Amino acid sequence: MKIVIDTEKCEGHNRCYGIVPELIEVDDFGYASAAGDGTIPPELLDKAHLAVDNCPEYAITVEAGDGEAAGAGDGEAAAPAGDEG
Ligand code: SF4
Repeated sequence: MKIVIDTEKCEGHNRCYGIVPELIEVDDFGYASAAGDGTIPPELLDKAHLAVDNCPEYAITVEAGDGEAAGAGDGEAAAPAGDEG
């Protein structure tokens, strides 16, 4: 599983960093991004979800990462590169 932060939504409250600093990096302005590649160690998964629930901007999501079972049908849904309009 990976933690993903939408930096366009982030308003720099730093709540997430207060909850799970192991997974979050903040810049000089307080805006958050995922630490490293965002991979969540199993022991931090609960805290990661807590950070999701406590972000006022809904900027944080927990997503299935490579090699993790995340439900049925993983890997089948990738769309081929196509043209857009
Ligand atoms: S809690 Fe949400 S809005 Fe606040 S710093 Fe973290 S990601 Fe950004």
